[in-house]
Amino acid sequence: MRETKKYIIGVDVGGTSVRIGRISSDQKTEKLIKVPLTQAMPDGKPDSLVGFIADYCEKLTVSAVAVGLPGTLDRECEKVLNTPNIPGLKNTELKKLIERRVNAPVFLENDSVMLLSGDMYRLGLNIKGIYLGCYIGTGLGSAFIIDGKVPKGKNGINELGHVPVYGKTDRCTCGNLGCVENYVSGRYLQSIRAKKYPDTKIQDIFTVMKNTSEYNDYIDILAMVLAAAVNLLDPNTIILGGGVTEMKDFPKEALFHRISCHSMKPVPADTLNILYSPRTKDAGVFGAALYAKQMLKCR
Ligand SMILES: [Zn+2]
Repeated sequence: MRETKKYIIGVDVGGTSVRIGRISSDQKTEKLIKVPLTQAMPDGKPDSLVGFIADYCEKLTVSAVAVGLPGTLDRECEKVLNTPNIPGLKNTELKKLIERRVNAPVFLENDSVMLLSGDMYRLGLNIKGIYLGCYIGTGLGSAFIIDGKVPKGKNGINELGHVPVYGKTDRCTCGNLGCVENYVSGRYLQSIRAKKYPDTKIQDIFTVMKNTSEYNDYIDILAMVLAAAVNLLDPNTIILGGGVTEMKDFPKEALFHRISCHSMKPVPADTLNILYSPRTKDAGVFGAALYAKQMLKCR
């Protein structure tokens, strides 16, 4: 029997797993499940992922489906242009495919936008203002929300992780050289661990690196790109999150200090506000649903 209560379905598609859940009108996540990507998309093709989402929605009254994706979408957020970790979704009209199977509006966005939407709500931030989210996991994802809306440039790109660092020349997954992501991400920390601290667990990498040149460079490179965003956009708050920021001894104080040093004086340096993403298992799913709720209001 079909449930009569209305739900927004949030989907968080990652490079290794997919989380899906339903969010009730009182903003509670229910029936959250996490499955390996290979289970949600066994043949690596978009139709199987769409089938996985449609199966979850069956027997529910769905008011919207929102999907966060780790990659680049077209400006209208209808098509997946590139998802380096999920090649099967490249050049897929995913919105249309899901709408064909689920009788509800479908919203796609970059996963960082979804995380920032959820974090702003859970941190009790006023929707008016400029917010920058920076999520450091395997890579570095970013998002801006301005007065509750996601600003879109000519192509809808927002990639702080692919800002170049002067003097750095390592090839990035995006094809360019010396992107900031290559010097602050989980992938980078894994490479440092393999080279210099093979007996250390990745969770302890900041503890063993403390006060080394790599540690100081890590803080400075991340601080410079964030300070550039601060001086350019004067955000009300920066929200940092992702697995790397949750590691033991992640240098929160030193990072704040370095961002402040590189920010213009007296402001925005004096008003610098940095918060950290609350640790929850449903962040991507909840954020996606919140984003859909916002989009439904705008229609
Ligand atoms: Zn890059």
